[in-house]
Amino acid sequence: MPFKDILGHEKELRIISEALRSGRLAHSYLFAGPEGIGKRKTAFELARALNCASASNDACGECTSCLRAASGTHTNIVEVVPTVKDKDELVPDPSGVIRIEQIRDVLSLLRYRAEGGRKVVIVDGAERLMPQAANAFLKTLEEPPAGSLIILVSARPADLLPTIISRCQRIAFRPLPEDALIGAIVEKTGVSREEAATAARMTGRSLSLALKYIGEGHGEKGRELMKRLSSVSDAFEALKLAEELSKRDDLLEALEILKGWYRDRAVSAAGAENLLANGAYYGYSGGSFEGRRERLVDDFFSIEETRRMIAPPRYANKLLAMEALLLRLTA
Ligand SMILES: [Zn+2]
Repeated sequence: MPFKDILGHEKELRIISEALRSGRLAHSYLFAGPEGIGKRKTAFELARALNCASASNDACGECTSCLRAASGTHTNIVEVVPTVKDKDELVPDPSGVIRIEQIRDVLSLLRYRAEGGRKVVIVDGAERLMPQAANAFLKTLEEPPAGSLIILVSARPADLLPTIISRCQRIAFRPLPEDALIGAIVEKTGVSREEAATAARMTGRSLSLALKYIGEGHGEKGRELMKRLSSVSDAFEALKLAEELSKRDDLLEALEILKGWYRDRAVSAAGAENLLANGAYYGYSGGSFEGRRERLVDDFFSIEETRRMIAPPRYANKLLAMEALLLRLTA
């Protein structure tokens, strides 16, 4: 049964299953919790369960409805994801935004009753709803048309408008238990338990991010980045590195890696070496980066603020933001 295919989240799944069985599902949900731990998958399986021919309160995975859902062609299940504009076309992009046109499309789809089962709209990355789009959605969130269900999915619920949050029943998804997560990473990638543990901690115990981390060789990229930053000796070099980093396609990821490193350094400065996420990075921490714990914590938040400024919907100038950040980090 597909709910059983979801790793962890026993408590969250129990709440959902009980609501399904007793026919007491809310009209609108907010699935909130760290990125890449199964929130969207759970939303999708709930949508499948509501439309499954087996009427067993779970998806059978084999009926026409379940198969159509799996292939993304089920007319009752609509997914809205952040997009960017490529010429005149909207292209899915996790770092993009959700536009009012997308919400208008959803609203007009919801006007028609489902032929069987239930219409389910899943908004993945709901914190990326542009203000106009969010406002257009408010009334529908409060009172979705009969027979429909709206599920907002967000890893950054603090960025959602309070008016959106108050209209949804919130289910808080917790990070996956470390042991189960490491086991799953080892099984899926074949890396050592130690490498799996590092990937898990560096990605906030997110399965999908940890798999990406390993798949894209982030351990290596991270070590390279730390080495470069550690070798900066004056403002001129800091500005040069800022320019180079600002041109990288994976700048947001690079900032996440940097945050992980500063987090480790702050933890170490606090004398809690046993809690280091990544011992390997720490090897490059010599020289100008020795600092007090408070300073390291401040730097951590500066990196996060820079990341938020550069990311949609703010789109600050990457070069200026990176220059300011690197001057600060290397001062
Ligand atoms: Zn089915």
